[in-house]
Amino acid sequence: MHNRAAQYFQVRDNIAAACAKTHRDVASVELVAVSKTFGQDAVLPILKAGQRVFGENRVQEAATKWPSLKQQFQDVNLHLIGPLQTNKAQLAVGLFDCIETLDRPKLARILAAEMAKQSRIIELFIQVNTGAEPQKAGVLPEDLDSFLTYCRGELGLKISGLMCIPPRSAPPEKHFLGLAALAKQYDLSKLSMGMSADYETAIACGATHVRVGSAIFGDR
Ligand SMILES: *Cc1c(COP(=O)(O)O)cnc(C)c1O
Repeated sequence: MHNRAAQYFQVRDNIAAACAKTHRDVASVELVAVSKTFGQDAVLPILKAGQRVFGENRVQEAATKWPSLKQQFQDVNLHLIGPLQTNKAQLAVGLFDCIETLDRPKLARILAAEMAKQSRIIELFIQVNTGAEPQKAGVLPEDLDSFLTYCRGELGLKISGLMCIPPRSAPPEKHFLGLAALAKQYDLSKLSMGMSADYETAIACGATHVRVGSAIFGDR
């Protein structure tokens, strides 16, 4: 039996401690509780503990889990943290409040059109493939400039921030600091980086959003 609420409060405490250690305001770090693979029974205690920002990596899974929960807890803020196929863009725009994985012009174009059609503004982060890993989604750092110009200029999209998933094998600091430098360069205020294993490190490197799953919900 998991005591997920206790694990959740522990993560909150750890975030507060990491903020104190690096002289950051705890309000400057948003915890995104990653509930992928877990059902409503696991999510409810965390909602009741006060958490409102959640992350899911699959549109279809989120579409079965969240609409009824969102009716009960109307201030839920749902983040898509997994790859988005353009044929799911309509569903994603209707369901999510933030898409962290914008990574290509075609997707940007379709999201812009869907947001206009549904009269809904979704917060957007661009995923950056900081390790240039061939199997990983995300814009390469050297392509960020032209992609941002396209999104902001051609499509009139507001981009809020950057997101990365560093390579598993390497220490993450270099990637976190690299992402922070890119955000600064392009005047983007939000940085989604850090997971269960390294969110405290990410906070030290400037993360404004940490995506924590297993430390709250347990192993998947
Ligand atoms: C699953 C996932 C997480 C959470 O990972 P944990 O190690 O369980 O905290 C964070 N970000 C992304 C993109 C994920 O897919």
